[in-house]
Amino acid sequence: MKPPKIDTTEFRDHLSNVTDSGKRIWIYPRIVAGQLYKLRTYFSWLLLGLLFGIPFVEIDGGPLFMFNVLERKFIFFGVTFFPQDFHLVAFGLLTFIVFIILFTVIFGRVWCGWACPQTIFMEMLFRKIENWIEGDYRAQQRLDAQPWNTEKIVKKSAKHLIFFIISFLIANTFLAYIIGKKELFTIILDNPLNHISGLVAITIFTFVFYFVFAKFRELVCIVVCPYGRLQGVLLDKKSIIVAYDFLRGEPRGKKKKVEEQPNPLDELKALTNPNKGHCVDCGICVQVCPTGIDIRNGTQLECIGCTACIDACDEVMVKTNQPTGLIRYASLDGIEKGNKLSFNLRIGAYTAVLTALLGILAFMLITRSDVETTLLRTPGLTYQEEKNGNISNLYNIEILNKTINAMPVTIHVKDYPSAKIKLIGKPLQLNKSELTRGSFFISIPKKDLEAPSIKLKIEVISNGVIIDEVKTSFLGPME
Ligand code: SF4
Ligand code: SF4
Repeated sequence: MKPPKIDTTEFRDHLSNVTDSGKRIWIYPRIVAGQLYKLRTYFSWLLLGLLFGIPFVEIDGGPLFMFNVLERKFIFFGVTFFPQDFHLVAFGLLTFIVFIILFTVIFGRVWCGWACPQTIFMEMLFRKIENWIEGDYRAQQRLDAQPWNTEKIVKKSAKHLIFFIISFLIANTFLAYIIGKKELFTIILDNPLNHISGLVAITIFTFVFYFVFAKFRELVCIVVCPYGRLQGVLLDKKSIIVAYDFLRGEPRGKKKKVEEQPNPLDELKALTNPNKGHCVDCGICVQVCPTGIDIRNGTQLECIGCTACIDACDEVMVKTNQPTGLIRYASLDGIEKGNKLSFNLRIGAYTAVLTALLGILAFMLITRSDVETTLLRTPGLTYQEEKNGNISNLYNIEILNKTINAMPVTIHVKDYPSAKIKLIGKPLQLNKSELTRGSFFISIPKKDLEAPSIKLKIEVISNGVIIDEVKTSFLGPME
């Protein structure tokens, strides 16, 4: 079937929430009730629980996750990563980028609509509180338009106070992800004068979150978010997006203006017209959109895939005795060819690549050594002849303990029974997640040296288990 022509000559050339003169249009989205909204609500409870709970979960006495950019120490699932794990970080980042690209090419902005913290906080927490205090979208418009009186002062103050308290909680949680819960509790419980920088950080984060959710809102997705900016190049005609079925919907039309009716949904049954498409042009899909766009104009950069317009339109379709899914998850190709969304070869191949990448990364993480040893002969020294005729070399050793457990270690020369280690100073003890330095001599009877320079393998042993092995050279006299 030849697609109907949609007139795009009048289509805007500026953001949906900005006037021709560049002034911001405040968006008052109508809250939608529908199956997807219900699912998103349940999913958001799970995500919010995880987001607020994870920084306070400990594993073997250490945090489950920590992203301490200040000390360049990162903990994932209780495993500590240091700058020495750069290769893992590089591969992890590469995997992450490829994952994002492939995922978006196939599934569009599913992340934005269902799991992005910005959407979850804005639509599932702050927006609901706003509706609870100020009323629905129409009541909010009225409240903003009316002069300041007791009602407006009370409602606005209550809303912003609650917004600020939640922003404060988010800021504390955010800081817990960076410095860990112990450090955070120390800042909260100790004398504030001892933690000025920590308190300044909490204050700044609180104001930033408050500004984002009270004022900036959808502009984060439309203007700031780099992932949002990438959509234009990542999506193609096969990507699954929230899409309006223009073949079914056009030509759109209604008999009466919805604005003239007290409750548009109650009047919709009378609006369908046999000569028109299924879209009754009620505009409810636009009213529910948190970024203020009309999905019937096609894929737009402002669309965060929140599915509110799907729920809204389905409700209209039911009321007008038409099949649901006029707006639905679909690809443009699928709509044009009338194909149903299905798990095809392309999705299978991309998913296989994603799974393989994640598998390799998981393997690298699982097989990562718990300690990393660097062993060097002391610069400027060759060998020493001892009174007993042995030859000795002096070494400096650095052992990085990547675990969250302290451990004693001993050093042993492998496959060289006559080689002896003489530690300088105290026995080596690895503190948790720290670098330990030490020095020692390796002493070998002169008669056992087969060449002026021999290769040695050094084992690092803890509690009877070899935890690392490094190679070095040992110098002796020429004759
Ligand atoms: S909600 Fe559905 S029927 Fe109403 S305007 Fe949007 S697409 Fe058309
Ligand atoms: S167009 Fe639909 S899916 Fe996209 S942001 Fe608006 S309501 Fe959400």
